[in-house]
Amino acid sequence: MTAELTNLTASEARRRLDRREVSALELTEAHLTRIERLEPHLHAFITVTAEGARAQAREADRRIAAGESAALTGIPVALKDILCTVDAPTTAASNILRGYQSPYDATVVRRLREQGAVFVGKTNTDEFAMGSSTENSAFFVTRNPWDLSRVPGGSSGGSAAAVAAGEAPLALGSDTGGSIRQPAGFCGVVGLKPTYGRVSRYGLLAFASSLDQIGPFARSVTDVALLLAAISGHDPCDATSVALPVPDYAAALERDIRGMRIGIPREYQVEGMDPEVARTVRDALAELERLGAELVEVSLPHTTYALATYYIIAPAEASANLARYDGVKYGLSIQEETLLDAYLQTRGQGFGPEVKRRIMLGTYALSSGYYDAYYVKAQKVRTLIKRDFDQAFEQVDVIASPTSPTVAFGIGERVDDPIQMYLADIFTIPANMAGLPGIAVPCGFAHGLPVSLQLVGRAFDEVTLLQVAYAYEQATAWHTQRPPLDALLADAPSGGDEG
Ligand code: GLN
Repeated sequence: MTAELTNLTASEARRRLDRREVSALELTEAHLTRIERLEPHLHAFITVTAEGARAQAREADRRIAAGESAALTGIPVALKDILCTVDAPTTAASNILRGYQSPYDATVVRRLREQGAVFVGKTNTDEFAMGSSTENSAFFVTRNPWDLSRVPGGSSGGSAAAVAAGEAPLALGSDTGGSIRQPAGFCGVVGLKPTYGRVSRYGLLAFASSLDQIGPFARSVTDVALLLAAISGHDPCDATSVALPVPDYAAALERDIRGMRIGIPREYQVEGMDPEVARTVRDALAELERLGAELVEVSLPHTTYALATYYIIAPAEASANLARYDGVKYGLSIQEETLLDAYLQTRGQGFGPEVKRRIMLGTYALSSGYYDAYYVKAQKVRTLIKRDFDQAFEQVDVIASPTSPTVAFGIGERVDDPIQMYLADIFTIPANMAGLPGIAVPCGFAHGLPVSLQLVGRAFDEVTLLQVAYAYEQATAWHTQRPPLDALLADAPSGGDEG
């Protein structure tokens, strides 16, 4: 019974809740039980908020009984631990914020709370979302549910792993250079990075403010559409959020994709591309062709520079954003004789090595004498990257590629080689540079691990992305595959009623 409840998508759970076939409390308990059993192996959560979840579930049941339920009332959601919440610590997986308690909710959290969603916990991430494997968490490494010796991807690896493992049907992550799409791909779930400005960033601990977006994870395109609609829209607290109306994404999914033009970028044949991944993605494109879409070669000549440009702009913005962690206002505070020593000790002990690397890179790129050579130049190249997309979208409706050049790699395999780690985002970073929406959809397996198709769309055209992804999902069964976790559940201490 409980295993079945944790396998439901959010939209299936919605139907059962509304028909009173299951209560929000039962649904929540099923997920909390699964979390309790799997967490010793997976480590997807930094904080599990069991008591808060039960209280929200009871309140959801009251709303459902009163006929006042919204789309996500009573649905369990996991939150990346970089989103501020009033009722649980927000750490960014950093020692500098260990135990930090935010005085307010992020806007996305507030919106979900108002809908009556149930928060099961805060998920692990690379420290301040800097990384591609969740290995940069100051606390522990999250495991990939498909193979516990591998990374779940990152930085939103905890959210991706939690959804893949059935610890929650929905989760939120953030994506600055690929941190939703890449872990979604590595864990075999759907993940969407919205257009820059679609979702409020208020209450998201800032990494690179011109690139960061919050977005949904789920096990189906429909669920991603539901969660996207719930978090989108203008917010007076974030001046970069736009005042465009929010479409009913879930209602817009069904569309015949015959005649739709799908761009295949010539420049995406990169070195280090796993041939098995390439073959699997080619099969997915062939499937889209069978569904009537037309594949068109497009050129994005400046994408070659996207990674290098990102590693100027993102660290530059990070170095400015992270200046606020000074031991005075928030989090870790190490008292010393002088203010300078207090800064040095607090930041020296509070930040991990990757965060320090980014602060140094960024400070260097912004320093006088280098500012024009690095930062200004990177901004100009960013404009060229965006223009490439503008031109391509004159010919095509969406652009398809692999989400990542490889499947999930082994824990420890890339930690000593930042460049190899950075290459994991080679296909995802261009969309952030151009502010465009991107979705990662499961499209098969290579070496026994999930492979993911990425679709990038025009600004604020999440609808088309979701339609193509939905058509593909309906025609294939990849999204119904689940990671092999039964053995872990079987030897769990409190086992018994799970089958
Ligand atoms: N992996 C990239 C980085 O380390 C992207 C991270 C992200 O999207 N937050 O910066």
